[in-house]
Amino acid sequence: MRIVVATHNEGKLFEIRRIMQQDLGDLAQKVELVSAGSLGLPDPVETGASFAENALLKARDVAGRTGLPALADDSGLIVDVLGAAPGILSARWSGVHGDDQANNALLLAQLADIPDVHRTARFRCAAALAVPEALARSNAEVQVEADSVTYDIAVQYVETGDMPGRIIRSPRGEHGFGYDPLFVPDDQPNRTNEQGEPLTSAEMVPTEKNAISHRGKAIAALMPDIERLLG
Ligand code: IMP
Repeated sequence: MRIVVATHNEGKLFEIRRIMQQDLGDLAQKVELVSAGSLGLPDPVETGASFAENALLKARDVAGRTGLPALADDSGLIVDVLGAAPGILSARWSGVHGDDQANNALLLAQLADIPDVHRTARFRCAAALAVPEALARSNAEVQVEADSVTYDIAVQYVETGDMPGRIIRSPRGEHGFGYDPLFVPDDQPNRTNEQGEPLTSAEMVPTEKNAISHRGKAIAALMPDIERLLG
């Protein structure tokens, strides 16, 4: 069965594919994941007021245009002392969408006077699955219908996952993206970095991060719904 992942980021498609292979085992062979970007679909404007609302609106838009089941996620960083900010504004906290360096610099400046004990935070991810009432019968139909929202949605599911941790004072690590170099998850693998410090999520390799991540947990929670869909 083809499932469209509501993203224009092939890296995210790759990560979700890997999480699904870990969680579904042999059943993963029954799923062909394709990205909304590769089908030429537009990126819907994220008008929701929560991660769950944004994940659902992206999944519903893609399923409504293609007649295929669609999977979407929406995520961000919640810093306790900032009253849960940057939250759904995480990608554009500094004002420029996707400028990780500026976002990280602003966050560090905002927390400069905050002692370690109050630098607690969490990444949160909402993952949504929307299933259209009538599944598209052919690729040609998908291409035509992708121009407008055509298919009604029969069922939708949304699940949330958290990765708790804390914000450190200077960046460490080369993996990951976004705020990863500033974030030390509470759940740690069985190793430290060369300085003997706990790892930031940017110092973890992808399998280490996926095993504890907000995205891994939210998508894993959707697996029973995906298994049901596969029959
Ligand atoms: P998205 O919803 O996955 O596109 O994430 C929105 C923003 O939240 C990203 O641009 C990052 O700034 C931040 N973010 C979400 N998940 C992560 C993560 O796993 N590591 C670091 N930053 C993240």
